[in-house]
This record gives sequence, C-alpha cells and structure tokens, in this order.
Amino acid sequence: MNLRALVTGGSRGIGAAAAIRLARQGYAVALSYRSNRQQAEETAAEVERIGCRAVVLQGDLADAQQARDMVREAAEALGGLNALVNNAGYVQRVSWEEVSLDDWNRMMQVGLTAPFVCAQATVPYMKEAGFGRIVNVSSLRALTGSAHGVHYAASKAGLLGVTRSLAAALAPHRITVNAVCPGYTATDINREVLERNPEKISAQVPLGRAAEANEIGAVIAFLCSEGAAYITGETISANGGIHMR
Ligand code: NAP
Repeated sequence: MNLRALVTGGSRGIGAAAAIRLARQGYAVALSYRSNRQQAEETAAEVERIGCRAVVLQGDLADAQQARDMVREAAEALGGLNALVNNAGYVQRVSWEEVSLDDWNRMMQVGLTAPFVCAQATVPYMKEAGFGRIVNVSSLRALTGSAHGVHYAASKAGLLGVTRSLAAALAPHRITVNAVCPGYTATDINREVLERNPEKISAQVPLGRAAEANEIGAVIAFLCSEGAAYITGETISANGGIHMR
C-alpha cells in the first residue's frame, strides 16, 4: 500500500520528529513550514535518507485558502494522501485581559480552523485510498486551561471537539481521527520557559523532565500505523504523568 502523509509544521520540533518517524514506517511525507525553509529542507533530507519521498510546502495556516491549497499541493505531489497530522501551532504568552481580538482570531485560525479545513480538504483523498488517519496535535493546556494563554487553551480544547466529531462522522470510511496532548516538550516553542525554570518543570512532572520531540512524534506515528486501526475519537496524553500531581 502507498502510504502518504501531510505533516503541517513539519519543519521542526514535534512535526519534524513525527515526519521522520512516519518515514521509518514507510510514509512518503509532505511537510509544511511558514517561514523556516532551511529547517524544512533539513527535515526533508532526513526523510529522504530513510528512503522515502519528501516534499516541502510553504503556507501560512492563518489563511484558510492557503491551508486548502497546501493539502491539494501535497496530494498532487505525492499522488494522494492517507494521513494528515495537524501539528502546526504557536503560543503567545499573555494574560487573558490583554488578549486582543486580533490575537484571539489568529490563534483560532491557526490552531482550530486550519486543522478543520485541512481535514475537510484531505478526506476525499482518504476515501479514495479506502482508509485514513488524522492526528490532531492538541495540548495539555486543552485539559488544564492556561492562565497565560486563554486563546491557546481554547483553540486546543476546541480541537478535541473537532477530533471526536470527525471520528464519529468518518468511522464508516475507515478513517480514524485522534488527538495527542503533549505536556512540556523541548522545542523552540517553549525553550525559554524550560531554560528559565528547569527545577519547576522537574518538580511538576513525575517523570522529572520535559519530553523530547521524538517521544511525541512516536505517539503520532503510532496513531498513523496499522496497529492503531481500532483507535478512534481518542485523546492520548503524553505528559510525563503530570495529571498525577
Ligand atoms: P515549534 O518547534 O515552534 O514548531 C512549530 C511549527 O509550526 C513550525 O513548523 C512552524 O513553521 C509551524 N507554524 C507555526 N505557525 C504557523 C502558521 N501560521 N502557518 C503554518 N505553519 C506554522 O513547535 P512544537 O513545540 O513542535 O509544536 C508543535 C505542536 O505541538 C503545536 O501545535 C503546539 O501547540 C503543540 N504542543 C507543543 C508543546 C511543547 O511543549 N512543545 C506542548 C503541547 C502542545 P516555521 O518553522 O516555518 O516557523
């Protein structure tokens, strides 16, 4: 079977780790970036070293039309799609009183609208292939809320609703839809917080450290594997046991 995946935000961090893991499972991978072309090309080179096809795509997912175009370009380049990893995202550390309407809208566009639009655009290719895997990268903050990112937490919580709704709608087509909620993960998105407060993180997390991007990529790749065929509508937390504290 031809395995073909689009990983949004696959240039670096968790998305790059997922793209590399998917390649090890035999997936040709289209990976997208917004501004960091060099990192996207480095990740694509890594996928090719594994022996799989890699395609690099640029687009700003704050724009729904660019999100749709990205899916079409990925499917055209790879000859179809049977996996979508909605991973691209960003954080903005700001108190809830200071979130402007522009801040709110942009966060929703990138974190909630784009994953939905990408799923809508991808499903016809999955139906054609006879199966599909959608993995939405949410966050621990979807479950706990965030005093310094209400819009981030809200977009990630909304994504869990999208996950369960699409899982119900797409099950008859052998398309599974799941979410991953990473806890603290060592990537550019939170490097500053992790470096400023290493003791705080190790005190909060029973496993005593932040995750490596690769450890989250492994969960995403598992959900895209044959072995995950009977898992749908599920949210998997990968947070070092933080719920136990
Ligand atoms: P990262 O290293 O900062 O990577 C973010 C990726 O998203 C990059 O590829 C970036 O592209 C892309 N991106 C950002 N804004 C975009 C936009 N408007 N349009 C298109 N692409 C955009 O972050 P990460 O830590 O790997 O995060 C990946 C996902 O995991 C995010 O959804 C994040 O919310 C979630 N998450 C992360 C953590 C954590 O602790 N790291 C915890 C929970 C959830 P460029 O390279 O071109 O900038």
